[in-house]
Amino acid sequence: MRLITYSRAADAAAAIAAVSADPTSDFLAGGTTEVDLLRQNVLTPRRLVDINGLPLTGIDEAPDGGLRIGALARMSEVAASPLVRERYPVVAQALEAGASPQLRNMASMGGNLLQRVRCPYYRDAVSPCNRREPGSGCSAVEGFSRGHAVLGTSEQCIAAHPSDVAVALAALDARVHTLGRRGELAYGIDDFFLTPGHTPHREHPLEHGELITAIELPSAPIGRRSVYLKVRDRASYEFALVSAACALSLVDGTIADVRLALGGVATKPWRAHRAEGVLLGAPAHRDSFAEAARMELSDARTTADNAFKTELAQRVIVRALETLTVNGRTS
Ligand SMILES: Cc1cc2nc3c(=O)[nH]c(=O)nc-3n(C[C@H](O)[C@H](O)[C@H](O)COP(=O)(O)OP(=O)(O)OC[C@H]3O[C@@H](n4cnc5c(N)ncnc54)[C@H](O)[C@@H]3O)c2cc1C
Repeated sequence: MRLITYSRAADAAAAIAAVSADPTSDFLAGGTTEVDLLRQNVLTPRRLVDINGLPLTGIDEAPDGGLRIGALARMSEVAASPLVRERYPVVAQALEAGASPQLRNMASMGGNLLQRVRCPYYRDAVSPCNRREPGSGCSAVEGFSRGHAVLGTSEQCIAAHPSDVAVALAALDARVHTLGRRGELAYGIDDFFLTPGHTPHREHPLEHGELITAIELPSAPIGRRSVYLKVRDRASYEFALVSAACALSLVDGTIADVRLALGGVATKPWRAHRAEGVLLGAPAHRDSFAEAARMELSDARTTADNAFKTELAQRVIVRALETLTVNGRTS
């Protein structure tokens, strides 16, 4: 049996000081990742600092028309927020497509961003896994890899990033605000998630003890017409095989602005810059959608198990774009 010290932080400074000072400590929010992995011996903290008493729960309007979502706001609260539903339906849809109602009531937004990969070799605590134990090897490359990534992979790791809402946040250029020993920092969402490269154990740029305080959604009128499409093995309580978060605006049947990000296919929430480049200024037509999808997946590196994702991802992109356009008009 391992002893774990549990304490409740009175304020953010105390939480940061406690975790920063002890490399064997972790923050505890909803616990739906932390406790899960602790039970499986994948995470082995000796001290848990409960941050649920900190005042980081609000969903507030920002002066620029955007929203600031507290790191401890629960997934279900954010999904139900009228402000989120009206301004960024893609965020509400991505949240509601994730986990189960019970989990969404527990799980926080900050914890969601820091959830761990669902690769079975990472989570079994014994197989070689460069992410869990640097230098030990990657069991998925030659192993069972049906759910794994085809974009942003390296020889060291091919695990897909599991979060749904992070895909929507990637499409909307969200920013992640933190507080830590270096003071207040803000990360663009694309810089927040790291591809594995040679250091798959480094999933984000945070220092140990750096606390996520909020997620900022910048003002984005395009977000009001947006959709999250998730394809998975069963209709609920399942991670994405492929997903797409998409927002789009049209002028006279031509794509004037577009945001597209993919989930389930990449080692981080994947902003589809190539596809966006093809789509901007193109007619809102299936042919443009298909070409954009083909371009985005052209660098896919597959295994025998997950090769189907290349075709599936292209279909999901086309379907998401079609969902937002009807006869050359935004739907
Ligand atoms: C069965 C199951 C199914 C799921 N299905 C989905 C799904 O379909 N889609 C999806 O997106 N997710 C899914 N999830 C993941 C779930 O959304 C995450 O577990 C949850 O969002 C994590 O939030 P939490 O508050 O419980 O975090 P915790 O478990 O408390 O923390 C997770 C990690 O983040 C750290 N942390 C937490 N808050 C902060 C903070 N403010 N600052 C810095 N570090 C912090 C913790 O130290 C820990 O390392 C599923 C989970 C389970 C168990």
